[in-house]
Amino acid sequence: MNHYPIHPAPFIEEQFRIVANTLPVMIRLAGTDKRCNFFNTAWLRFTGCNPEQEKGNGWTEGIHPADLQEYLADYAASFDKREEFKIEYRLKHQNGAYRWIMENSVPCYVEGDVFAGYISSCVDIEDIFSNSRFQNEFIDTADLQKDQAMLAAIIESSEDVIVSKTLEGIITSWNKSAERVFGYTEEETIGKHISLIIPHDRIDEERVIIEKIKNNESIDHFETIRMAKHGRLIPISLTVSPIRDRNGHVIGASKIARDISRAKEAEAQLQKYAEMQEILNNVGRVISTDLDVQGILQKVTDATTQLTGASFGAFFHNVVNEKGESYMLYTLSGAPREAFEKFGMPRNTAVFEPTFSGTAIVRVDDITKDPRYGHNAPNKGMPKGHLPVVSYLAVPVVSKTGEVIGGLFFGHTEPGKFTREHENLVASVAAQAAAALDNAKLYQEIKQLNSKKDEFIGMASHELKTPVTSIKGYLQIVRRDSAIENKTRMFLDKTLQQVDKLSALVADLLDVSKIQSGKLPLVYSTFDVNTVLRDVSEMMGQSNPSHHIELELEDNPLIIDADQQRIEQVIINLVSNAIKYSPKASRLIVKSLNKGDKIQVVIQDFGIGIEQAHFDRIFSRFYRVENLAAHISGLGIGLYITQEIITRHNGKLWVTSTPGEGSKFYFELPKNANADMA
Ligand code: ADP
Repeated sequence: MNHYPIHPAPFIEEQFRIVANTLPVMIRLAGTDKRCNFFNTAWLRFTGCNPEQEKGNGWTEGIHPADLQEYLADYAASFDKREEFKIEYRLKHQNGAYRWIMENSVPCYVEGDVFAGYISSCVDIEDIFSNSRFQNEFIDTADLQKDQAMLAAIIESSEDVIVSKTLEGIITSWNKSAERVFGYTEEETIGKHISLIIPHDRIDEERVIIEKIKNNESIDHFETIRMAKHGRLIPISLTVSPIRDRNGHVIGASKIARDISRAKEAEAQLQKYAEMQEILNNVGRVISTDLDVQGILQKVTDATTQLTGASFGAFFHNVVNEKGESYMLYTLSGAPREAFEKFGMPRNTAVFEPTFSGTAIVRVDDITKDPRYGHNAPNKGMPKGHLPVVSYLAVPVVSKTGEVIGGLFFGHTEPGKFTREHENLVASVAAQAAAALDNAKLYQEIKQLNSKKDEFIGMASHELKTPVTSIKGYLQIVRRDSAIENKTRMFLDKTLQQVDKLSALVADLLDVSKIQSGKLPLVYSTFDVNTVLRDVSEMMGQSNPSHHIELELEDNPLIIDADQQRIEQVIINLVSNAIKYSPKASRLIVKSLNKGDKIQVVIQDFGIGIEQAHFDRIFSRFYRVENLAAHISGLGIGLYITQEIITRHNGKLWVTSTPGEGSKFYFELPKNANADMA
């Protein structure tokens, strides 16, 4: 370590003073207590203070507050270790401005090794960076200038907005792009607060940004809104970085902003397309499964009004009622029904004609200026109180057969709102709507036919029941006559058998009709299912000697609370099917099982069987498996009635089968079906 001895002799001290005061370098002396006791003339000239003000620690008041702490810490640490140290800091000039100072402080020793304090020599280096007048061996000012010029050129020509500001938010630089994007010139912004370009509702962002910058943090690609001259809002992506001085202190912020209006617009456009696609998909899906006319009309009106951005939309739909009278239904979107109710239906005027004749789409930027508009009495245009329509779009809805089903109408209060794109969108929805409405119409027709058929079955079975019962009665009376011959008696028996079959069919048809109208009554009583199974098997066995019915019944009685007659009917149906569909077999099995709070019955045959594809359908009305059972007669209603009876008892009916091997029909009933149904 170098020693810089100061001779204590007064004349040497005096000599030192003279030398020190003639030097251009600023010199300050501190004693062993770190307090300063000498300032040379160059120092006092710089600070503009007198020695009294500066002595002790008074001079440190001139250090820039941002640099003070670091200075004092470095100074104290070096001082205590008696080390030489170099530091740069800002010191207040007598003109009030801070200037950068480079200080070199060295410890001084007297009489060999006695520590006497520090001598600090300071040079004003502010000019090095702003003025070529000052040159020294460390900095090549020409290079520096070149670099600065290049940097300035880069900043000026950058596509991005580059702005710098102090920590107080005062704008200190403003490049050409900033001028282009925000509309303010450099002169209009330098020295102004950055809030000039921050919308009022985002002013808080600035505080947060400055906080981060002060903590030496950067903000990367922050998407926000800034305000250009005259209040135009611009979406931007902002990157803010701290500006540090040579000692690493944050003294300001540089902002790089990119105008992302185009990207945002593209994003919004994409979003809009995605939404439109979603609406289109939705409406397509929904109306293709909807068979209710009113529902289709409403969904189509809502979707197309949304797609076109119309103030309101309406779907006028021609309907022909059963009497062949035609009238119009309509649905609205975006306007209350009252807004239309008082005006009546649109008439076949020049404006509406292309729509109701299905000849063309009408799209007009301002309908009130259209030559076709306003010629019809009494209103000569829109009736008083009509929703104000300026932009107008009307698309005919035409069915595949060419029939005009109706028209979709859209209005907007401002001109030029509907585009070709809107026209195409509505046209494509209109085509889907036409198909959906055709389907709905067909469905309505089928529904009507179906209910007519139900009506007929009900009526016919009712009408058949009385004569069949009478025939049976008369035949029984004749048969009782002991005088008739044996041969005649045999024919009478056969006739009675056929009449029984006929009356069973009529009874089944009547049941179907009752099920359809929800009027199949159940009369509950408590009985043993095993007894019913035994009785039915005996009776069926007698009349069908071709098949032996094997009973595998649960040992104990299976008591249930149910409609005995109806359960008997179920068993007869299943057993007679088992016999009917196993013409080549000679046996079938009837089984019963106790299943806790339920009973289970299985009727197994070894007949033709059923393919799995038919398992569900055989329980529906009039369904018969044609290929296998074509030669076996039947109406296809026995299992339908059986299913209904079991379901009404809160039970379950199902089948398992292997074609060619036979089928097993199962049903389960809760023991107390009546209570379960409650
Ligand atoms: P139907 O016997 O009068 O045709 P069902 O409603 O009783 O009417 O039965 C519906 C259809 O289910 C029958 O046409 C037949 O194809 C099939 N089916 C019912 N029971 C059996 C069975 N045990 N074996 C094979 N097929 C059956």
